[in-house]
Amino acid sequence: MGSVQTLDLEQLRARLSETAEIVTKDDSPPELYQKSIARWSESSVRKGSIIIFPATVEDVCVAVEYSAASGLEVAVVGGRHSTSGSSSSEGGIHIDLAKMRAVTVDPTNKTVTAQGGCRWEDVDTALANHQLATVGGTVNDTGIGGLTLGGGYGHLMGQYGLRQKLCSPTGAYKSALSLKTRISSGRSEELVLVLE
Ligand SMILES: Cc1cc2nc3c(=O)[nH]c(=O)nc-3n(C[C@H](O)[C@H](O)[C@H](O)COP(=O)(O)OP(=O)(O)OC[C@H]3O[C@@H](n4cnc5c(N)ncnc54)[C@H](O)[C@@H]3O)c2cc1C
Repeated sequence: MGSVQTLDLEQLRARLSETAEIVTKDDSPPELYQKSIARWSESSVRKGSIIIFPATVEDVCVAVEYSAASGLEVAVVGGRHSTSGSSSSEGGIHIDLAKMRAVTVDPTNKTVTAQGGCRWEDVDTALANHQLATVGGTVNDTGIGGLTLGGGYGHLMGQYGLRQKLCSPTGAYKSALSLKTRISSGRSEELVLVLE
């Protein structure tokens, strides 16, 4: 089991893309760290050791590999609205997807692809530009990740059902598979089992 002290943050920085970010308790100003661990519900705030903000899918892979090697608890952060504390970890690593909010709409096939850090506002606005809408939540600053995994009720539910029914996890599988391929080449057998 590793600890933050034994982990090489500089090495991590070097592997991440230029726009990715890392925040720790020691960074100044202290408000930067406080902002990084803030949650919609104060009772869900946990003081993570390292907060990683990936900017690309490759960054996410690097962050997961790093976290697995550290042995620390990991929390994935979407829109920060859960009240259970499940997107936070005391002393662990937070992988916060806030920089990954791109949305692509295919108006011909009426599909939308959104990155894991999107809030409903991002998806609703992109779709509205094409006079389209999808089943989301009722409050547009909740995250699409947490709501799809653990909620799913919104304004269009009466007509189309819960959010989860319309969600294809292809993208998630893709990055998990690419991660698995890389990890299979000898880095963490445990993580391969989790992905399987
Ligand atoms: C003000 C408010 C309004 C709400 N309105 C609605 C509503 O209208 N309809 C409804 O169904 N629910 C609603 N909810 C509940 C909401 O769906 C849940 O709180 C949900 O967990 C929030 O997701 P999040 O991504 O914002 O939260 P987070 O706290 O960031 O994440 C919640 C969980 O999802 C995981 N997660 C988040 N994103 C990802 C990702 N990209 N990949 C993998 N895991 C991820 C996190 O690890 C964590 O376990 C509301 C909550 C609040 C506080």
